Amino acid sequence: MTVTTTHQPATDLGYLLHKHPDRVQQFSQSFGTATVLYPEATPERCTAALLLEVDPVRLARSRGRKSPDFSLGQYVNDRSYAASSLLGVAMADVFSTARAGRCASRQELADSAIPLEIALPVLPCRGGEDVARRLFEPLGWLVEVETIALDDGFPEWGDSRYLRLRLSGLTRLSDALSQLHVLLPVLDESKHYWQGPDEVDKLLRSGEGWLATHPEATLITRRYLGRGGGLARAALARLAELGDDVEEALEPKAEEEALQPEERRVPLNTARHDAVLAALLELGAGSVIDLGCGPGQFLDRLVRTPAFTRVSGCDVSTRSLQLAARRLRLERMSERQAERVTLFQGALTYEDARFAGYDAAVLMEVVEHVDPPRLAALERVVFSAARPAAVVVTTPNAEYNVRYEGLTGMRHPDHRFEWTRAEFAGWAETVCDAHGYTVVLRGIGEDDPEVGSPTQMAIFTRGETSDD
Ligand code: SAH
Repeated sequence: MTVTTTHQPATDLGYLLHKHPDRVQQFSQSFGTATVLYPEATPERCTAALLLEVDPVRLARSRGRKSPDFSLGQYVNDRSYAASSLLGVAMADVFSTARAGRCASRQELADSAIPLEIALPVLPCRGGEDVARRLFEPLGWLVEVETIALDDGFPEWGDSRYLRLRLSGLTRLSDALSQLHVLLPVLDESKHYWQGPDEVDKLLRSGEGWLATHPEATLITRRYLGRGGGLARAALARLAELGDDVEEALEPKAEEEALQPEERRVPLNTARHDAVLAALLELGAGSVIDLGCGPGQFLDRLVRTPAFTRVSGCDVSTRSLQLAARRLRLERMSERQAERVTLFQGALTYEDARFAGYDAAVLMEVVEHVDPPRLAALERVVFSAARPAAVVVTTPNAEYNVRYEGLTGMRHPDHRFEWTRAEFAGWAETVCDAHGYTVVLRGIGEDDPEVGSPTQMAIFTRGETSDD
């Protein structure tokens, strides 16, 4: 694999990768040797090459005796010649700091999108050119694909299942490396290593910021985590937690339906939207503001509900707001509709007059994204400054996490905390006391007798005796 930049001075690529352009360095892997060298290093253009030499003997030995594949495949395979998932593993190891986006001497550059070209001369690609495009194009890459002939000497034999792939685009190096780390094994025919329960965490960490909104998130997740087992389901459930577009992915596919028909449930995301919508209607709210609206899935429900005469969404992330605007077709709304709907950027930890004047505010899966020391600021902003008649808050129930197969940490890498039912109730109580609200708590999703529901909801209403 080669990585090229024309960002000047191009040799800064050496800093970003933490590998000096003048040197040739080798890194031992359990299955062979990875070498990093720079075939070109000028101020205008610099290319780093990661050369992986797979040692078939070591590879066969490292598979372990319990490996299900004890056939000839161990000895006769393409691993030494193709950019397999092994390359993804070696890349993650050799460029781990670069993938994490850290660069003490050039941090600003590491944080910037720079012109990059990535070339993979021989890539096994399940699904061929079409799949390669579907995976890389939505990430903003310009994709050039050339199918490699089975044998140049015998054109009538047709194509092989290998591609020559060239990606070019403007992106952060760390993002590019994370994408490849996930997508190389996804493209490969066979992932070579055993999947432990932390595979789901690894996937979500590498996929942070791009996987949940990728139109092929389902395909990527299923292929990355393999068939059978509940890992892909667990990962998809957690991706849906991000409030993105993978809900339909949670609907069991035909083959799974045969296995576990009783598992066919309403996706949690949908259950949450239903429950909050029902609460707002019960409250008789006419105007609603969705605080931390993300890419606008729930906002879309609000806009489609005629009972709401005014609907606003706010988020700190401009990217989420762009997605929300696209989802709501804000550009193409009639003038009357457009007057009803407002989207704006804002941070919930700073007082903002635009948050005020609504019957109800929604904080759906937002509080757990706020650093605990900033939570008091959010409380003041929402319950004291904006002070709507009602506030509906949802947040994960940490106790339920034991029911997610493969989940070792919190449900999402950006969560700063997850509350048990007692902790949430305690927090709600404090808020009521401090700001003159009363609260009703409800569970959302399946109600497990031991650990409760996956999501918890608090419906706050401003007390009659309050000081306003
Ligand atoms: N409410 C949406 C999104 C939840 S994800 C849903 O349920 O689908 C959490 C969202 O909160 C993210 O979009 C994030 O950008 C936003 N957020 C986190 N901290 C914030 C803050 N301090 N101010 C405003 N938005 C914030």
